[in-house]
Amino acid sequence: MDASVELDRVVMRFGDFTAIEETSLAIASGEFFSFLGPSGCGKTTLLNIVSGFLTPSAGEVRIGGEAMAGVSVNRRPTAMIFQNLALFPLMTVFENIEFGLEVRGIDRKTRRATSERLLALVALEGSGPKKVTELSGGQKQRVAIARALAVEPRVLLLDEPLSALDLKLRQHMRVELKAIQRKTGITFIYITHDQGEALNMSDRVAVMSAGHLQQVADPMTLYRSPQTGFVAAFVGENNRLEAKVIDQDGERVRLDGGALGELSGRGTAPTPLANGAAAALYVRPEHLRPVAPGQGLEATIEALHFEGAWLMLETRLAASGEKLRVQLGHELSRQHLEALQPGRRAHFGFDPEDAVVLADAGGPALD
Ligand code: ATP
Repeated sequence: MDASVELDRVVMRFGDFTAIEETSLAIASGEFFSFLGPSGCGKTTLLNIVSGFLTPSAGEVRIGGEAMAGVSVNRRPTAMIFQNLALFPLMTVFENIEFGLEVRGIDRKTRRATSERLLALVALEGSGPKKVTELSGGQKQRVAIARALAVEPRVLLLDEPLSALDLKLRQHMRVELKAIQRKTGITFIYITHDQGEALNMSDRVAVMSAGHLQQVADPMTLYRSPQTGFVAAFVGENNRLEAKVIDQDGERVRLDGGALGELSGRGTAPTPLANGAAAALYVRPEHLRPVAPGQGLEATIEALHFEGAWLMLETRLAASGEKLRVQLGHELSRQHLEALQPGRRAHFGFDPEDAVVLADAGGPALD
């Protein structure tokens, strides 16, 4: 069954305000697709357009190749899981899961067989007779998933469904959700402001800001090759150094870092950078390492944060005064601990393959 979702030149305006700028996107049947972006960027609005709660101001949504214009929420092949789950607290687990089937006039025996099957899928066998109030947060989450799946949607829409759970449970449910998606083969459209969630579960992620898509790619590509300053700053952590383009040869860009001297990195945007243009070099804290004096960038260490699995250094570059965060794993932090104390100077280098160069959009691109 075709469970693809297409947005074709969709626009959403609320009065004078454009919440979604013209957006076109094709989500494949059976894909785990996430929209990732900060609060207010339009994620929920897009999800509501797919579910039918909102009618777009322009453009079209197609599910399984069929235009959804004029098709009401209940008639769409979608189901939604909300952040607050919206379970019926006084009903049993069975009653919650079977509610949608009862509304559709499905007989009791079939209803029960369906809910038993779904309880097994979400690893809650035997919990059917329990009241929802007797369940833990993670169990409620699974009931909400089972209830959404009961109506056999082709597309499951998930609106930050893990945000109410504690960290451990959230991490566990990521694995479960991904496994359920694989087993059912249903298209999942997941919205979140949590990059860890999006990178961890998704086949592809659309990074959004202020009503438009910044980049749509698989998680590894988003992390390795952000194409805009917004994506570089929002997905993972990045240091940002200002520079001017000397020249670009293929992907490799040589930069004039001013007081920092010559720098180089990979140009990841689709269009090459113009010689002389203002640019920013992004290098992640985990890609920096101590190097011998006279090499790399000289910096003063301002603070050390022990994070368990790694050590984070807050440093300031001697030549430019720019901040540089450096993350060192166990080996390196043990080796260099004596030299890496607050107030000391140290040198840090990186492989140009790990640094990304993008046109400077004028200051940090975060909203
Ligand atoms: P959050 O993560 O906080 O839920 P979001 O990315 O889901 O944020 P949306 O809820 O889609 O963001 O909202 C996008 C923008 O559209 C916001 O600026 C919001 O104020 C605006 N907006 C949403 N719904 C309406 C509405 N019914 N009328 C007017 N403006 C709206």
